[in-house]
This record gives sequence, structure tokens and C-alpha cells, in this order.
Amino acid sequence: MFFGGNPFHGGMPGGIPGGSGRGATRSDVDTTKLYETLGVDKDASKKDIRKAYMKLSRTHHPDKGGDEHKFKEISAAYEILSDDDKRAQYDKYGLDGVSGDDVGAAGGEDLFSMFFGGGGRSRRNSGPRKGPSVNHPMKVSLEDLYNGKTVKLAVNRKVIQGTPVECTRCKGQGAIVEVRQMGPGMITQMQRQCDQCGGQGQQCTFKSERKILEVHVDKGMCEGDKITFGGMSDEVPKMEPGDINFIVQEKEHELFKRKGADLLVVKEVSLNQALCGFTWKIKHLDGRVLVIKSRPGEVIKPEMNTKEALPFVKVLPDEGMPSKGNPFVRGNMYVMFRVEFPDDNELPSNVIDQLRSLLPEPDVPEEYDPDEVEVVHLNPADLRSFGKGGANQSSNEAHDEDEDGGGRPVQCQQS
Ligand SMILES: [Zn+2]
Repeated sequence: MFFGGNPFHGGMPGGIPGGSGRGATRSDVDTTKLYETLGVDKDASKKDIRKAYMKLSRTHHPDKGGDEHKFKEISAAYEILSDDDKRAQYDKYGLDGVSGDDVGAAGGEDLFSMFFGGGGRSRRNSGPRKGPSVNHPMKVSLEDLYNGKTVKLAVNRKVIQGTPVECTRCKGQGAIVEVRQMGPGMITQMQRQCDQCGGQGQQCTFKSERKILEVHVDKGMCEGDKITFGGMSDEVPKMEPGDINFIVQEKEHELFKRKGADLLVVKEVSLNQALCGFTWKIKHLDGRVLVIKSRPGEVIKPEMNTKEALPFVKVLPDEGMPSKGNPFVRGNMYVMFRVEFPDDNELPSNVIDQLRSLLPEPDVPEEYDPDEVEVVHLNPADLRSFGKGGANQSSNEAHDEDEDGGGRPVQCQQS
């Protein structure tokens, strides 16, 4: 590799997490400077870019009397334009797009001032750079997400003691650049973190400080929601401390499943309850006890009568979760039914006779001459075996299925 190591990839912690304002495309963003540096068109192929870089790096190499600053510019331009992702980011957002997340903070600044002159323009107007933020997962019960809750949590943070002094080794840069000649025309430029100051550019002593944070879980918060305490992370010299974020993790509930503001609860009913009605008492997430009572004549079906065989559901309007940001509007509570039918031989023949006369649409016996037809019975089966019958299959499978009694109905002559 001709340009081993990214001068801005020195493994610098404390890079600015996000914050590069890349969300919005600005019209004043420069997206041509890097192409001009390499002397290629904006739509140049990777090969052309590489060729141009090789040629320029040979003429401008400091070892051959070239200008070091110019050489660094060329190297940095190539580093970005030779990487598809970085090039795409640069084309869209300019240097802001490539000097954010994955490029060290100091590097990011250097990159900008490298091409636009120190102090020529600032990447962001929002004051000093920010240290790293910390995310803490926080498990929250569905009850607490429904009702809202304030939790007191203790955190330990590092606080700077006294005044930081500039690091003597890296002179406050936080990083040390090493240029090495690897062979004719082959150089590597490595930027690595200064080990004396740990990349901070400053040396100071820290003390640990214990802080109690009041974490407000708002009604209706969801999995992944962030509760932020700005500037509460460890103090870092010359930077604004990062944030402490608590990330909501919803605990599984034994009764309710949640999707958005809606709740789902599964109810098993017997065939009797499904046909003749039921009363069902449940405790809601706010402690209220609801008695769900079927209306007279209401029938619960095993599934929706559609091609998709959807589960049969009913709904309690406005008994779902409070909406996030608008707790007065609540979602709905869906009840999904499972109808438990009686097992074989569970109904005595006199009960069957009664049911036959009571239930609508009883079976009308077919007329046939037993000597003219074959009377057959059904065996239990699994639809997953459907299509695997017959002789055209591996013998093992066929054997297993026969043992299960799955698949084909066994013929049996009724006497
Ligand atoms: Zn240092």
C-alpha cells in the first residue's frame, strides 16, 4: 500500500461523536477542492484517482525536495477519494462529511484547516468540542413505561483537578505523526495517539465524583428511547464533557405484548365460552381491574374467516399505552383469542346428541349403500408432511411418517 495509515485515523479516542452537522446538505459546501488537489475531474474513476495520486506524490514527496504541506494535502485527498464511502460523503457534505465520526477530532480540524487555512472557517459554530458520551442501558418495566417514573441513579464521573498543562511530548496535539520510507516511492505516514497524555494533548489529574441523577421515564417511552444528561460524562481537558445517556430497554411483560402505543393480550377460551360467553378479569398496567365480559350472543371464532387465516382478535379502544409526547391519547388493547376445543372422546354420546339438536346446522347424513362405497376414517396429521407422501422420497423419511401416522388416511372397512 502506498499510503499506509490514515493521518486522521491515529486511533484517537475522544473523537467527536456525530455533531458534524451532516444532516442537512448545505449549498455553500465545497465538494471540489479534493478533486482539484489531485487534478482530476469530479467523475474520475478510481483508477484515474490512483494514477493522479501516484504521479503527484512522487513529485511532491518531501524526501525529493517537495513541499511537505502540499504532500500531506495530496495524501489526504487520495485517502478520502479512494474510499467509496468517504468519497460519497465528501461529494454530498464536503469535508464535514468525512471529518466526523470515524476521523479523530484533532484530525478533523486539521483536515479542514489543511485545505482551507487555519481559522478560515469553522466546522461548527456550537462552541468547544465535546468529549465522548456514554450510553447506559436501563431496563424499564411496562408498568413504569405506562405510568411514568423517576428513578434515582448514582454515577461516578471523572472530574479534572487543578489546571491541566500542555503535554510535553506531543506539544498539545494529542498525536504524533511518523513518516517512514518503506522503499523507493513507498512511504507510510502514521498518526498515532500520544502515549504520554493518552491523546488529550493535556496532562492533568482526575478525581472521581459521585453524582445522583434523577432519571425521568416519561409515560409512553419506548425501547431505545434516550434520556440525556448533557455534559455529565467524564471531564476532558479543553473539551466540553460528553453526555450521559440512559437507553430505555423494555422488560418483557407476562401478560401484555406492546407495539407502538397498542397492547396485545392472548386469551384462551373454551369452546363453551367461545359460543356461550365469558367473563374475564385482568389487571391493567395502572392497577385498575378490568372485567371483560362478552355481549349476549357474541361468538369467539378460532380464526378470522379470511384467506390468510388471521387470528381472531377483538379490541378495547383507548386501553393501550399512553402515546409518547401526548400521554392523553392512548393506543388500543387487542385481545387475541385461542379457542380450546374438547379432545376426542371428551364428549359423552348423550351430550353429542343434545348438542346436535341444539347447535345450528347439524350434519345431514349422506345416503349410500355400504356395499357400493368405501367408508374411511381420518388419522391425526401434520400439514408439514403435506407433499411428502408416496414412494418418491428417501426411505428414512417415509418410514418416520408412517410411524407418526401422518399423511395418508388409513383405509378401514366398516363392518
Ligand atoms: Zn501528548
